[in-house]
Amino acid sequence: MIPIEFRAISDALSSEEGERIAIRGWVYRKREFKDKIFLVIRDSSGIIQCLARKDNQKAFEEARKATIESSVEVEGCIKKDPRAPGGCELKVDELKIVGLAAPFPITKSAVDASSDFLLDVRHLWIRSRRMTAILKVRDTVFRSIHDFFRSRGFYEVQAPMFVTAAVEGGASLFKVDYFGRRDVYLTQSSQFYLEVLIYSLERVYTIAPSFRAEKSRTRRHLTEFWHAEAEAAWMDLNELMRLEEDLICHIVSTVLSERAEELGLLGRNVKALELVEPPFPRLAYDEAIEILQEKGFDIQWGDDLGSDEERALTMDFEKPVFIYGYPEKCKAFYHKPDPSRPEITLSADLLAPEGYGEIIGGGERIENLDVLLDKIKKFGLDPKDYEWYLDLRRYGTVPHSGFGLGTDRLVMWICGLQHIREAVPFPRDIRKVYP
Ligand code: ATP
Ligand code: MG
Repeated sequence: MIPIEFRAISDALSSEEGERIAIRGWVYRKREFKDKIFLVIRDSSGIIQCLARKDNQKAFEEARKATIESSVEVEGCIKKDPRAPGGCELKVDELKIVGLAAPFPITKSAVDASSDFLLDVRHLWIRSRRMTAILKVRDTVFRSIHDFFRSRGFYEVQAPMFVTAAVEGGASLFKVDYFGRRDVYLTQSSQFYLEVLIYSLERVYTIAPSFRAEKSRTRRHLTEFWHAEAEAAWMDLNELMRLEEDLICHIVSTVLSERAEELGLLGRNVKALELVEPPFPRLAYDEAIEILQEKGFDIQWGDDLGSDEERALTMDFEKPVFIYGYPEKCKAFYHKPDPSRPEITLSADLLAPEGYGEIIGGGERIENLDVLLDKIKKFGLDPKDYEWYLDLRRYGTVPHSGFGLGTDRLVMWICGLQHIREAVPFPRDIRKVYP
């Protein structure tokens, strides 16, 4: 219909008074009066208010027919109006309905009614301004992870999703029937493959799904999550923590500068994010246990920290905080014992502040063959399941460290969300695999 080029709505909003423009998008809001109809149109870049007046009969009729979420093309002139969102309004000359929408199931009252309903219609809820804002922050987070690792000389690699052995313990493995020949599993972490790859590339990273059969329902566990993992030859725990710190600071500052509008729309307190600067406080596991006992937690040295404990610990800090030196039994078998205190490991988790808790787990890996073999047996595992992993310690073994960052938990914290499901476009947990 329209001979002039379509513009993004964000671009249209900065047009001159009286300028003729065309936009296309979806009807986001509609208000009807006797002689005028306001349509707020949204596209991926923003929203603009359009006014159809009765004196333009044809456009007025189309505007009357246009339902919420109908896709439309609109042409008209820009009028500055401080009352309109974005400070200007489009006076409609022509309006074409491209796809007339049936009555949209997500109404204002439905949004308040139940989040279960919004999960069932996630394929439609994705269009909401809230989800759009979250997805844009998520995009910035993923891009800044790539930018960071490339700037630090890491190579991006890919690991398989079908694997034959557990990285994080058998309880959370998803089993898959592999052509009736054998059982394989969906990967819980790419770590072991990254460890292989450091023997050629030295510093590697990947961003990939990890799968864990998490049976308990929490606000921070999904069964399929996106895992940013890095592994580096010759790196010790101190260097690793500095790398993690720099990564998190880079991501947060990029989001703050590029996604201020989205954070505002989400009602995020950005002051809390502005405090995220190196160095992050480091707390020994031993001290963490003492603090928790003082706070009244029934916890003993040797117990793992759950989400309640992590929440209580992070409430005292304004920045993300490292907890280092976890006892051997809190961590998977490959964690390297501290030579000066073999009952603890050279490991560190990074906990996000404001109660969010663990976003990164990492540490030094065991590089000695015999130590690794002993650990595998001590953990009740079968060395036969780890043959190729053990080979890495047979042929030119090297001290090395690595970590895994849960990107969905990171997005959850940066956006200030209540539940991890909101941080992912199509969340999977014990109850939800649809849509
Ligand atoms: P948790 O104790 O919270 O279950 P974990 O110790 O099992 O975490 P790691 O195995 O260290 O976690 O995994 C590295 C990172 O991956 C975690 O710090 C977290 O950010 C993320 N992660 C782990 N499991 C999940 C999950 N089920 N859903 C979303 N993210 C996860
Ligand atoms: Mg876990």
